[in-house]
Amino acid sequence: MPRPPVVARTLPALRRALDDLRRRNATVALVPTMGALHDGHLSLVRLAKRRATRVVVSVFVNPTQFAPHEDFGSYPRTWKADMAKLATENVDLIWNPDVKTMYPEGFATRIGVEGPAVAGLEDRFRPHFFGGVATVVGKLFLQVRPDVAVFGSKDFQQLRVVTRMAADLDTGVKVIGAPTIRERDGLAMSSRNVYLTPEQRAVAPTLYRAMKETAKLLKAGKSAEAALAVGAKLITEAGFALDYLEARHADTLAPVRSIKDGPIRLLVAAKLGNTRLIDNVAV
Ligand code: AMP
Repeated sequence: MPRPPVVARTLPALRRALDDLRRRNATVALVPTMGALHDGHLSLVRLAKRRATRVVVSVFVNPTQFAPHEDFGSYPRTWKADMAKLATENVDLIWNPDVKTMYPEGFATRIGVEGPAVAGLEDRFRPHFFGGVATVVGKLFLQVRPDVAVFGSKDFQQLRVVTRMAADLDTGVKVIGAPTIRERDGLAMSSRNVYLTPEQRAVAPTLYRAMKETAKLLKAGKSAEAALAVGAKLITEAGFALDYLEARHADTLAPVRSIKDGPIRLLVAAKLGNTRLIDNVAV
């Protein structure tokens, strides 16, 4: 039987549990999540276990990274199933504050992020998003004081933003990027995939296929403009409303013209009905 992890819901409870964990020179890894856990999240937990002796998973659906018209209210919340999964992974501590604990009455502070946060990708479509992410991740780092924190490359721009923020604010937290876990047909795992109808689910892997095709053309020497046009056509013809398909430098997120300007990361965001999916691949 897996040992059930300790769950902390208040700051004093978190502090007590962390004091306990920190005994005997333990190192602590933090895996921030919004719950609705899938194998992608669990792969982060497994990576965290290899990088530290204790693993803390935060489960918090962060309202400050959602715009009023977005899905904060309907975001999947699957607490019981999440707990069962985290127990199986032998997580040490779950940090599950409510919104009032994270943002008490009168809360008036926000971490401003630039550089990768204004690269013209997600920020163009979700202008409030990275400020909300940086603020909650900054708070999580101060609350948990982890040695390392693990984030998925699935949210590639977010990984760059958080890495920059962790360094710029001298948090001392080492941010580790983890590979994207996919379904067998290539669709990147996401808590939002449950929104897809069976018809949309059948179409959804096109996003990954189109990026692979675009990557192949870039590797063969085609210009980014030409390769992206082919990828964009595949995506829109499958029935997506495309927000962006872009070829960017993997480190700086600056636009690139061809493979010569690389290493390249392809990044995509597109909607199927009301469901917005994002993904990315290395070229
Ligand atoms: P979320 O709960 O969606 O905010 O995601 C929590 C963490 O899991 C973030 O660091 C994500 O990048 C990561 N993540 C989400 N989906 C995947 C996936 N398919 N593979 C690997 N990591 C993922």
